[in-house]
Amino acid sequence: MKAIRRFHVRTVLPEPLVPLGELATNLRWSWHPRTRDLFQDINPGRWRALHQDPVALLASLSSDELQALASDEAFVARVAEASASLQRYLTAPGWYEGLRQRQECPAAIAYFSAEFGITHVLPQYSGGLGILAGDHLKSASDLGVPIVGIGLFYQTGYFKQGLSAEGWQQERYPILDADDLPLSLLRDAADAPVKIRLALPGRELCAQIWRAQVGRVPLLLLDSDVEENDAAGRELTHRLYGGAGEQRLQQEVLLGIGGVRALRRWSELTGDPAPEVYHCNEGHAGFLSLERISELVTQNDLDLDQAMQVVRASNVFTTHTPVPAGIDRFGVDQIRAHFGDDCELPGVPVDRVLPLGAENYDGGDPNVFNMAVMGLRLAQRSNGVSELHGAVSRTMFRQLWPGFDESEVPITSITNGVHAPTWIDRRVTDMAKEYMGLDSVRDAEGWERVPAIPAEQLWRVKRELREQLVHDVRRRVRKSWMRRGAAGAELGWVNEVLDPEVLTIGFARRVPTYKRLTLMLRDPERLRRLLLDPERPVQIVVAGKSHPADETGKKLIQQMVQFADDPDLRRRIVFLPNYDIEMAQQLYPGCDVWLNNPLRPFEACGTSGMKAALNGALNLSILDGWWDEWFDGENGWAIPTADGVEDVERRDDLESAALYDLIETSVAARFYDRDEQGLPQHWLRMVTHTLQTLGPKVLATRMVRDYTERLYAPAADAGRAMRADDFAQARDLAAYRERAGAAFQEVRVEHVDAGGVTDAPQVGDRITVRAFVWLGGLGADDVQVEVVHGRVNEDDELTAVTTEPLTVGESLPDGRHRFDGDVTISRTGAFGYTVRVLPRHPGLASAAEMGLVTNA
Ligand SMILES: *Cc1c(COP(=O)(O)O)cnc(C)c1O
Repeated sequence: MKAIRRFHVRTVLPEPLVPLGELATNLRWSWHPRTRDLFQDINPGRWRALHQDPVALLASLSSDELQALASDEAFVARVAEASASLQRYLTAPGWYEGLRQRQECPAAIAYFSAEFGITHVLPQYSGGLGILAGDHLKSASDLGVPIVGIGLFYQTGYFKQGLSAEGWQQERYPILDADDLPLSLLRDAADAPVKIRLALPGRELCAQIWRAQVGRVPLLLLDSDVEENDAAGRELTHRLYGGAGEQRLQQEVLLGIGGVRALRRWSELTGDPAPEVYHCNEGHAGFLSLERISELVTQNDLDLDQAMQVVRASNVFTTHTPVPAGIDRFGVDQIRAHFGDDCELPGVPVDRVLPLGAENYDGGDPNVFNMAVMGLRLAQRSNGVSELHGAVSRTMFRQLWPGFDESEVPITSITNGVHAPTWIDRRVTDMAKEYMGLDSVRDAEGWERVPAIPAEQLWRVKRELREQLVHDVRRRVRKSWMRRGAAGAELGWVNEVLDPEVLTIGFARRVPTYKRLTLMLRDPERLRRLLLDPERPVQIVVAGKSHPADETGKKLIQQMVQFADDPDLRRRIVFLPNYDIEMAQQLYPGCDVWLNNPLRPFEACGTSGMKAALNGALNLSILDGWWDEWFDGENGWAIPTADGVEDVERRDDLESAALYDLIETSVAARFYDRDEQGLPQHWLRMVTHTLQTLGPKVLATRMVRDYTERLYAPAADAGRAMRADDFAQARDLAAYRERAGAAFQEVRVEHVDAGGVTDAPQVGDRITVRAFVWLGGLGADDVQVEVVHGRVNEDDELTAVTTEPLTVGESLPDGRHRFDGDVTISRTGAFGYTVRVLPRHPGLASAAEMGLVTNA
């Protein structure tokens, strides 16, 4: 029978229990175990059955149960205490407050992302990008950084993964009812839902706004499933990364343009300051800049070029992948349809939009509009997510700044981190509190006291964690086999799956090709021997979702499942369907070793290994992403890479062979090397070392501090400078850019005099330099003339360059200018120098920014 109407009846809490409402909807419970205890103690069985979901638990309580709780004085006192703790957390001056006393800081920062992974009850993520965004918001909350998150509300999230009998991935899309989630609809003063509108080709799109509260940080999620829209409009936000092409573009238009409109309504309603910085977490939200330009043009008597200077100054763009398929590219015709004619943004004609995403460089596709390229062009500050990824991105995008050395490409790096209170198992946190005297594991202090944890205690806890994982795995394996059609009676063997005494290796991540899920299957016989070794067995837990449209990924999963289905092996290797936050929180702590074997250098950072490390696991990984930066020889193992071997098959052969060797001769050997008390002393020293040295580095609080100090605060300063005195600097910079753009066609270094070069030059010698330059109409103050020096390679090119500015000498009667200075010879070997002319303006953040340079 179908209901003819559906109501949502919210639980009305009796007076003494009212604070439970906020405790359930403020997502701080997801990283605060004491708040979870409170909910659990209401009814432990139901808490488990409802997947530890506070809103669902409260909704399940009958009025009798509520009354009983309300008259339980001890419980009411705990509610009051938990509520007081939350209020203290929300109001305590955080790290940011201290920073604000020392320097100008942004009043607010908007953080745009297509996905947010905060808790299992709000599945709005597909993988690392979303989890990172969630950890970013949580850590901003911990530190008191005034961020507001903007995303989309996906009614079916990504998807739930199951397996067919043959091991083929099956996707399910259970519908989430926002009313059952820790979300509230943003309403105006008259209590009507706030709606934003935007123009799509041929129709208008309307969206409402859900608000989640992540500690102190609000997260606004746009939802197009409203009555005003036609069927296609209503479905637009149903699935994360669901549609291809056009649907994806419309989602991104909603996220970027609609997101800015939602923010404006949010500020009006709450009185919160408008953001001074806009952080675009990957390219999906890039259209936010077009909306901001349009706002500036229509409200402030600025033209598009002037508005663009303001937007660029206050934007931060983070690129997350060197994999071309991971970058959103749309057809130029699609962009024309979206930003031309009737749905054009006021003040932003489509002919000015197209060049922003144009791949107008070698190897680029003229029919394509590239979201990452637009992101880079519209932000004065950009970054990759590990040192290696920063370098790879500088190479990858260097053509956007022609004429510059790779090292000068203005893309820096900030290495990702993880939110420790979310990811460290409670047993480990308790141990840190007890032996290290830590109040919280989220800060960088106190990790030097890790060696105070006694070895036998550390080992006992690791065993408990392994055992907890073993139970969770058996439950999941049983459930999966039932879904695959097995009868309960044939599943007796499941009780023997995995062994809490055996070396446990974890491998879980999305399944794009470059992550090489099946590298370990390269030599199945060799893997079989490792798993079944009578003395030193290994067991492996594997998990991961493939994008629904990725048949190759699904084939890899099937190979893995079929291998793990082998009755001889299934006690030692399992594939768990539906990798998600809930599984991850058991998996990382329960593993002894976290394996990662991507094709270098495609793993931009990787964060699962950091989460494993925080729980005392050792990493066994290809030197890619964060591991390339922080592997130190004692915190795990580096799988040797066959970089430069072009033949992929051969490379996989070499790298998998190295992996088997390492597991056999180093990892297993060390794990099973026990002293008279049964302790693997050497292993435990590595674990201690890992916690002690990696602990403080991998924290998301470290990451958010880096973003704040290195990118947000400078971007806010730059944005303010642009706006001051009725946008004087923005107007001036726009005019300068136009002038310099034309003049640099003519700028020439005509002649360079060098003095002081001896027959046998030595390090430390000084060379005096005089450069005679033709500036084509620019003034001497409009340019920076500098000496560039460094090593000279076989092709006579300068590499590893250093620059030193020359000072303005004099203007010569023939119209040339002389610039003077000197260089110190800084290296032995092939040393060389040249002189170059660059644009100079106080509104520029880096010399390379305009992509203009004239070399001698
Ligand atoms: C951390 C995490 C990821 C990302 O892991 P990578 O190492 O970056 O691949 C993906 N999914 C879940 C559920 C996670 O917790």
